[in-house]
Amino acid sequence: HDLRNEDLKDLKELGQGNGGSVKKVEHLPTGTIMAKKIVLIDAKPSVRKQILRELQIMHDCHSDYIISFYGAFISDPNICICMEYMDKGSLDGIYKKIGPIDIDVVGKVALAVLEGLTYLYDVHRIIHRDIKPSNILFNSKGQIKICDFGVSGELINSIADTFVGTSTYMSPERIQGAQYTVKSDVWSLGISLIELALGRFPFADSESDDSDLSDFEGTLSPSRPNPLSLPKQTKEQRDKKKKRKSKGVSLQGGGMTMSILELLQHIVNEPAPRLTPEGRFPKEAEDFVDSCLLKDPIQRKTPKELLKHPWIEHARTSTFDLEAWASTF
Ligand code: ATP
Ligand code: MG
Repeated sequence: HDLRNEDLKDLKELGQGNGGSVKKVEHLPTGTIMAKKIVLIDAKPSVRKQILRELQIMHDCHSDYIISFYGAFISDPNICICMEYMDKGSLDGIYKKIGPIDIDVVGKVALAVLEGLTYLYDVHRIIHRDIKPSNILFNSKGQIKICDFGVSGELINSIADTFVGTSTYMSPERIQGAQYTVKSDVWSLGISLIELALGRFPFADSESDDSDLSDFEGTLSPSRPNPLSLPKQTKEQRDKKKKRKSKGVSLQGGGMTMSILELLQHIVNEPAPRLTPEGRFPKEAEDFVDSCLLKDPIQRKTPKELLKHPWIEHARTSTFDLEAWASTF
């Protein structure tokens, strides 16, 4: 039952990320619908084989909160990873379509992500490393699952080599070069929850004039020019940019656009974002997000500890119907 590329029929393009693209495919011999992630990897055949070996751990990951794995194979020059297809897509796509997400749903998202992270760490000693709305998937059964976790050290290395990328969901300690721990994932969860509840990336200034946003991608690139020194754009250029897929970072503060480096400095030096305005969300939700976003990783709790938070217990017992909610969009 080894997966072969020849057995997969492309149905449609689901999205594109930094590392490659994802397609909805049908596995013709069984009729199974899958999501096929194609990762471009510029590495020696031996390294590719090593990545493939490391990816096999995903066969042993069985949790309601983790995307199921069907298999992976090399299709030169790419590595293809076939996983469970989630028909409502990722949460970033959902809020961009329907606006800010109901806080009851956000609570269920927090619960699901904490359960997924706890499973990965307790059972497999895996740290996710890339929690963000585009890696939290939803389906019409009302299930919430996480994907794209860091199972393969070699894959992480290869992608780092290729993209010099760093995301803006990164915790202050990671920006400062500390090792990844499960607590770094908790920070990323906190940022993601604010983004879902507000319907915008939390480091973007709410008062900023939208017509003036310049969307620099959320990646660190040595060749990227400093936005502060860019010539002023024409309106057409701005409109064209806005139509392109924005990858997240567009920062306006006091009429000045922040570069990615300034954003990273901001995360390290300024107080963490919060669920605001005060009083708009339940106190327990505000408190939960605050505890995810403690800047000192020593004080920040682990996913397992956070599962005991009152807001999460409330989300667990809540009768909010995610399946019904899923049918509204
Ligand atoms: P980045 O590359 O920065 O991590 P990303 O997570 O958006 O960004 P990909 O992981 O390549 O990039 O995913 C691209 C898109 O494909 C996602 O935003 C999501 O909407 C969609 N997608 C990914 N996996 C699945 C899946 N299993 N089922 C349905 N849609 C998926
Ligand atoms: Mg992804």
